[in-house]
Formats: sequence, C-alpha cells, structure tokens
Amino acid sequence: MLHYSCDVCKRPIHPHADIRHIVKIEVFAAIEDEACDCQDADESGGDVDHLEEMQDLLEQLDECDDPRVAQDVTARSMRFDLCDACRRRFVKNPLGLKSGKQLNFSNN
Ligand SMILES: [Zn+2]
Repeated sequence: MLHYSCDVCKRPIHPHADIRHIVKIEVFAAIEDEACDCQDADESGGDVDHLEEMQDLLEQLDECDDPRVAQDVTARSMRFDLCDACRRRFVKNPLGLKSGKQLNFSNN
C-alpha cells in the first residue's frame, strides 16, 4: 500500500481518512521572439539569404549540446502532496509571502 505524506508538514496522509491534495507548479521562461528557437524552426522557411544566419544559429545550438537539457534548466514542473490543512494555507498564499500586516516597527 502506498503511503503519502504531506510535503509541507510531513504529516502522513491516510488514503481513506484524509484527502490528499496535489499541487503542481510549473515554472518556465516566457520566451519571446528573440530566444533561440530550439524547437523545430519550420516557420522561417525558404529565404536563401538567411542561410548563413541559419548556419550561425546552428553553430550556436551546437554549443548547448542537447536542446532538451537546456530546456530543462528553464522549465521546471514540481509536484507536491499536501494534506488538507496545508492545502488551505497554500491556496491562500501560494508563494509563502509574508502576508498582511508587517509589524516591524521598532517598539518604542
Ligand atoms: Zn500538511
């Protein structure tokens, strides 16, 4: 039998007694035009003038051996199991920011 535990508070989550919540977080770079399109460049087809540029690009690509590895650096997906209490806290404050009043005033 599989045993899960909450990734936040480490409490065991019993499959029948508790609800296990799964949090999936995906982090990836918002790549705009100019990034090296490591994906298949089928869009800019045709122009012979661009052939040299293409070759330059390809050489650059060679430097970062496997585009998939390079992609792995920028894209990250994480998965966490959360108990119900932690799920509630997470939903309120996904990034764990210090919420609300900051009582940092010196106390005099
Ligand atoms: Zn928890």
